[in-house]
Amino acid sequence: MYQQPVARLAVPTPLRRTFDYLYRGHAPAVGSRVEVPFGRQSLVATVLSLADKTSIDPKKLKYIKNTIDSECILPAELFKLIKFAASYYQYPIGEVFSACLPTLLNKGQAAELEPEWQWSLTPQGREAIPKLRQNAVKQQQLFQLCLDCDGVLTEAQLANHDFIPSYLKTFEDKGWLIKSAYEATSIYEPSAAYDSNLELNEEQQFAIDAIEPHLDTFKGFLIDGVTGSGKTEVYMQLIQQVLSSHKQVLMLVPEIGLTPQTVKRIERRFNVPIAMLHSGLTDKQRLNIWLKAREGKLSIIIGTRSALFTPLANPGLIIVDEEHDLSYKQQEGFRYSARDLALVRAQYEQTPIILGSATPSMESLYNVQQGKLELVRLTKRAGDAKPPHIKVLDVRQRHLNHGLSQPLIDNMRRHLEQNQQCMVFLNRRGFAPTLMCHECGWIADCQRCDRHMTYHQKFKRLHCHHCDKQVFTPKRCPECQSPQLNPVGLGTERLEEALTELFPDKTVARIDRDSTRRKDSMQNFVQAIKNNDIDILIGTQMLAKGHHFPKLSLVGVVDTDGCLFSADFRATERTAQLLTQVAGRAGRSKDIKGEVVIQSHHPDHPLLVNLFTQDYQTLSQKVLEERQQAQLPPYAAMAIFRAEANNLEMPMTFLNEVKQQLGHSGLTVYGPFPAPMPKRAGKMRAQLMVQHTERKALQNALTPISPTLEQLTSARKVRWSIDVDPQEV
Ligand code: ADP
Ligand code: ZN
Ligand code: ZN
Repeated sequence: MYQQPVARLAVPTPLRRTFDYLYRGHAPAVGSRVEVPFGRQSLVATVLSLADKTSIDPKKLKYIKNTIDSECILPAELFKLIKFAASYYQYPIGEVFSACLPTLLNKGQAAELEPEWQWSLTPQGREAIPKLRQNAVKQQQLFQLCLDCDGVLTEAQLANHDFIPSYLKTFEDKGWLIKSAYEATSIYEPSAAYDSNLELNEEQQFAIDAIEPHLDTFKGFLIDGVTGSGKTEVYMQLIQQVLSSHKQVLMLVPEIGLTPQTVKRIERRFNVPIAMLHSGLTDKQRLNIWLKAREGKLSIIIGTRSALFTPLANPGLIIVDEEHDLSYKQQEGFRYSARDLALVRAQYEQTPIILGSATPSMESLYNVQQGKLELVRLTKRAGDAKPPHIKVLDVRQRHLNHGLSQPLIDNMRRHLEQNQQCMVFLNRRGFAPTLMCHECGWIADCQRCDRHMTYHQKFKRLHCHHCDKQVFTPKRCPECQSPQLNPVGLGTERLEEALTELFPDKTVARIDRDSTRRKDSMQNFVQAIKNNDIDILIGTQMLAKGHHFPKLSLVGVVDTDGCLFSADFRATERTAQLLTQVAGRAGRSKDIKGEVVIQSHHPDHPLLVNLFTQDYQTLSQKVLEERQQAQLPPYAAMAIFRAEANNLEMPMTFLNEVKQQLGHSGLTVYGPFPAPMPKRAGKMRAQLMVQHTERKALQNALTPISPTLEQLTSARKVRWSIDVDPQEV
């Protein structure tokens, strides 16, 4: 050890360690950013701590070039959370800081708010509204937005909509809007122009009564409420309480594009500055939201996974909606779970946290068992809507017309005749899962993955959904030159074709990732469904959650069998969640009776029987018991080491060395094995699974060894990662 004052930094590099730097003059503030020489680069790093000793010869240490901030840029609790996350997920701390901070801060930009602008509607503007041309849609939308916001639009409000700034300029030039600077405030004044609270039903009131007394402290709640039970209303009335004590609310949602309705409802309820963090924001907008939240100038922040790292001046409540959703877990790089970290954050911040779902995760139900979360249940649909009638339809030996059985078709006809909407659910986009030669049996396989390529008729392409490789559909079989290449199996495109033929006078809309690539298309579909311009929806996972379509009365699930047999121990949980959520879309209004038809070749499968003769709660208790017996998560803590290279040998060698290093750690080790899908995007993949019944023991074993792994020679020949609490095996 050398006696030498140094600053210990998180430098954005893939190394699992910190770096000591010398400084001139005053010590930099802990939590501030500094610029440092690193190799030949200059990087922006964060000061983690100051020390007066270092293990490195001071002659070899470099000086900090420049301090960017005079003080910590984060509230202490968030600083602590980020450090915790780096150590818990065994990920390089420098990269964790980069992942958690806005891009512009990573680039060294000052952490200062730029002036904000607002645009006020002028009397001329008001006069111009009725004279606008019918097809000036964007302009009408801009006016509508002005009117919705009482004639004054702020930058923050605009950030929530994809309006092109040029429209603002045009409006200014015409004298319809006046631009001025303004100071955002966080004063909460309910306004009559906004939606008012609904009268709560008994269960909702019970939920509020359970949570409200704890709004000043850390406490975790799980609202387990069936689809349509009015969870959002409960959130909103609690949010109101929090706002009235001048505190901020952070709400996480699965994927913002998928839940625009929730966001709109919240916007229409509260007359406070609200920000939405989503992928469509510019870097400047993102930074400004971050800074404003930090200064307490935003009252409600809604966003997807990474919004968890928004600094809050005055945190009052954290909500994680649809907490079971997989999108809360980042699946690459810094593999954190925003839901799990939200619980840690609430504890650090001493605020309450509410997790909500109609199909709670096993992790959260386990936390209820452990007394870490208090369970609040909403068992009935709100506002007189009745639960849907669910039927599992045995399709063995039945003729299937492009996957559709006659009873399902008849049922659809009945609902459509009453001017209601039907949804046919199939979680497989494309025309058909693959293409096969009728002469020789050749199948269109991806050369880079162990999977078939999906046939997309519309784009005349074969597309691998695993590595994204695309090729034109061959005209002849590459093996035998036969022109007879036939699609095999059913995808959403083919279903669309079949339904359009079956119901020629009805409008069919297919809503999958292919049909919603354009920026506004999802929003437009949702609007069209609400306007009753669509009769039959073909839905994938995207439509399974969050949406509330009042006229939708029948949901048909075409193919459940694929989900019933899977090697992943989470398959039952996932399938049960998906089917329950899909079924929950039916009959969400009081005058329409919902019906759900689930087609299966395995109607006696215990999952289907348990799920639909009882309910998700009963099934989830069974799943929990099975997990406990098998000592699987959440009854054990798990981590997976993954590695990939051009051949399978190198990852296996690396993982075997990892296994040796773990030798006496007391962890249960499985593997290494080739991954369930060994070849992907041309790489061969293997994995090593480790487990311990105690989370702490797993951490204690991983923490000392993970930084040493990068020094193994075998590590340099592979791409590898550690996934703590993996969601996919
Ligand atoms: P969830 O979030 O649990 O799926 P929502 O909050 O979306 O449920 O509520 C479903 C529907 O019921 C919405 O249209 C909502 O306006 C309505 N609703 C909720 N609570 C009430 C209530 N107390 N009285 C009348 N309608 C309600
Ligand atoms: Zn052939
Ligand atoms: Zn592929």
